[in-house]
Amino acid sequence: MSLETKETPPAPSDFIRDIVAKHVAENKYPRIHTRFPPEPNGYLHIGHAKSICLNFGIAHEFGGICNLRMDDTNPTKEDIEYVESIQADVNWLIGGWAEVRLGLKQHSKVPEAKTVDGKPDFFMPPVFGTSEEERKNSAVKLEPFYASDYFDQIYEFAVALINKGKAFVCDLTPEQTDEYRRNGKASPFRDRTVAENLDLFTRMKAGEFPDGGRVLRAKIIVDSPNIWLRDPLLYRIKRADHHQTGSQWCIYPMYDFAHCLSDYIEGITHSICTLEFEVHRPLYDWILENLDLPRALPHQYEFARLSLGYTIMSKRKLMQLVEEKLVTGWDDPRMPTISGIRRRGVTAQALRNFAYNIGITKYNGITDVSVLEHAMRDDLNKRSLRRLGVLRPIKVVITNYPEGQVEELDAVNNPEDEHAGKRKIPFSRELYIEQDDFKEVPPPKFFRLKPGGEVRLKYAYIIKCEEVIKDAAGNLTELRCTADLDSKSGGATAARKVKGTIHWVSAAHAIDAEVRLYDRLFTEAEPEKDGRDFKSVLNPHSLEVVTAKLEPSLKEAKPELRYQFERIGYFTLDKDSQLSTLNSQLVFNRTITLKDTWAKEAQKG
Ligand code: ATP
Ligand code: MG
Repeated sequence: MSLETKETPPAPSDFIRDIVAKHVAENKYPRIHTRFPPEPNGYLHIGHAKSICLNFGIAHEFGGICNLRMDDTNPTKEDIEYVESIQADVNWLIGGWAEVRLGLKQHSKVPEAKTVDGKPDFFMPPVFGTSEEERKNSAVKLEPFYASDYFDQIYEFAVALINKGKAFVCDLTPEQTDEYRRNGKASPFRDRTVAENLDLFTRMKAGEFPDGGRVLRAKIIVDSPNIWLRDPLLYRIKRADHHQTGSQWCIYPMYDFAHCLSDYIEGITHSICTLEFEVHRPLYDWILENLDLPRALPHQYEFARLSLGYTIMSKRKLMQLVEEKLVTGWDDPRMPTISGIRRRGVTAQALRNFAYNIGITKYNGITDVSVLEHAMRDDLNKRSLRRLGVLRPIKVVITNYPEGQVEELDAVNNPEDEHAGKRKIPFSRELYIEQDDFKEVPPPKFFRLKPGGEVRLKYAYIIKCEEVIKDAAGNLTELRCTADLDSKSGGATAARKVKGTIHWVSAAHAIDAEVRLYDRLFTEAEPEKDGRDFKSVLNPHSLEVVTAKLEPSLKEAKPELRYQFERIGYFTLDKDSQLSTLNSQLVFNRTITLKDTWAKEAQKG
């Protein structure tokens, strides 16, 4: 059974897809081209997954291309570790689904300036990814795009704006600049001549001025109601090594300047981002429109970002959890990062289904975490191999079952998948069952095992609890039971009804495994409500580790498969497992419980 399928839910419809569909119908562009532009200053989170599924989804559905572009204009916050994790996460999420739509550039090809109809055009990177064939045939190393690939061109665009009298070098301090912009006041340097601006900008680039000493600003409207149009910054001086360009540059373009131009250079048609960029759109358009560019301009469209209950979603805050060691790392299975979610055992398919289910709107709101959990359960139910495992064992001795006898019983691997087949599980005189499945003093409607009571062992016999054995301190050590030896499948009393069925493993055959039981990272749906410190509502029970007893077939567990421990939940092998056959040390992560225990709590509450 393969873990990843090409199956995707039906393409959703939303206001952005409606726009794209209209453009396709009008033949407005030769090809739809989107992009996903993360800043490599942290690991991707589930909010980014929404954006990835939207951008790659559109490329996938409309026969277009989606570029993965590192938006790397701020070297002090960025790192190659993040670049690599982003690539891995995107590839994982779109693999088997939309990866042939992934635009990639040829490694080491340096973009060069060209002219089209006498006007400066800029090299459009060759795009691969239109077919699997093309990728296979490509001898060169394929890489994602980087905004830093375009630093030369972006610099030239800045020079072009200066030449048109639409940008100026400003000597105000950062504090003064803020104050002037807040008050809608013109910079005293606004009317510098083109020649002076060109000279100063060239010298900024050459490293003649200290960090922060001067900036390049656009000349738009000093007192515009839209603050982003109040002569915004285009370039700043910052001496910092860049993970891609090293020490080549001491000036770096601002996000707003680099972003629209990167979109243009790559031939993006639909530049899709979250709502907070709506107010930046006039600036996005102003820059492109004021450069007299020969090719069709990209357009920006905004949608509401994902906010998820019981989660925080900012890279900066997630980084605090990592740095303060409140979690084990960016890929801690409790983290809302794509790498954490993956390690926890959620499949790419489930995450994509989630992203499609929540839809794309213009209204910010909080998505209930149960929507994600539903997508996880739904997907895992279909693909998980059923296994028996006891998380908190108590011993059961079947006194009327012959010592030394072992039976191999048939058990189905997955009732949801007729191709998944069957396996054998050993049954013997000594078993383990779950502590929770026995109550010496049972509450009403307790249908599991109790003194004198009967219960069915899944795939095996009906047993009756005859005696409860305790140690000197009064702790339960063992249950002595008898089995109805005719009650197994095919036997004379197989049809006999008892109210409860519980899981079990054979004590002599069971294997030990470390099982990590993960729960929500926060105890509150809105960790930051009313300005509260999110770290004050960390769930102290978000991780519990037990040594479980598992049926022996799990010795062959594979990291790429998913397991349902019957009646308990969905599990996956963790990367901390040692899978060598001699000295296997299995570690399982609980991806999610079978049922929503939080909903029950809420009802009680
Ligand atoms: P964060 O604030 O979490 O650090 P960011 O917006 O700074 O996120 P970027 O790397 O700039 O992160 O984001 C890359 C793309 O992902 C952008 O287009 C952004 O709009 C989108 N994105 C970021 N967060 C979300 C979210 N919560 N939901 C949907 N899309 C998001
Ligand atoms: Mg950002």
